[in-house]
Amino acid sequence: MPELPEVETVRRGLRPVMEGRSFGKVEQRRANLRFALPSGFARRLTGRAVVALTRRAKYLLAHLEDGQVLLMHLGMTGRFAIGEDAAAPAPVHEHVVFHMRQGARIGYRDPRRFGVMDLIAGADLAEYPPLAALGPEPLSEAFDAAALQAALAGRRTTIKAALLDQRMVAGLGNIYVCEALFRAGMRPTRETAEVARERGADGGLARLAEATKAVLREAIASGGSSLRDFAGADGALGYFQTRFEVYGREGERCLRFGCEGMVERIVQQGRSSFFCPVCQR
Ligand SMILES: [Zn+2]
Repeated sequence: MPELPEVETVRRGLRPVMEGRSFGKVEQRRANLRFALPSGFARRLTGRAVVALTRRAKYLLAHLEDGQVLLMHLGMTGRFAIGEDAAAPAPVHEHVVFHMRQGARIGYRDPRRFGVMDLIAGADLAEYPPLAALGPEPLSEAFDAAALQAALAGRRTTIKAALLDQRMVAGLGNIYVCEALFRAGMRPTRETAEVARERGADGGLARLAEATKAVLREAIASGGSSLRDFAGADGALGYFQTRFEVYGREGERCLRFGCEGMVERIVQQGRSSFFCPVCQR
């Protein structure tokens, strides 16, 4: 499943072929992805220019000149591929194709069809159900030690569960929560009430906010470079392999300099947590 850095990388890949361009023909090959596509989907897009392509959590938002917003979520297996407009046969599982007037062909493939596309009025964006309850963007200034403390106050759960809660911070998934906790030297099983007391410039909350931003920024940067190699191959955007410090490294040596620990895996809320028992406290 693509996580926030991958979605951001997809946004950066699509921007040059969408922003400032308009939809020519829109091919819709199914009535639904995860949900039904909105009525008149192709007609409502055709001829409209994209003013800006933004991201909120794991949603891509194409803001159109007429005030509509095309909302896109990759689900589990969705990916966009940019190609030249050609008469080659459509790939299997390609459900939607945007033919941009200035030449690019943007195909959306999604074998498992957990992806979402919807058209909403820009004025209703903030109230749109999946977006309305989202917490701050982790890469924004709004996400810092103070915001974390406010969000954790009164919660009785683990720091791992809290970071996965989209109301607390938007768009974080299991992989990057594991990585951020490692970077912050914080054990995923720590109680939120206890962590919430660690304020101050070098307290746990400040370290956690900084660590979260750092792992996401680094993943986006490495995604950007792998994207350039990748896009040459089949033009597909959406997935990349990042080298993780703890995620998926059960039984391997901790990568922190001088640490003798071995990465452990435990299950929390049905999901794997990877951590170093020596340097994560
Ligand atoms: Zn360690």
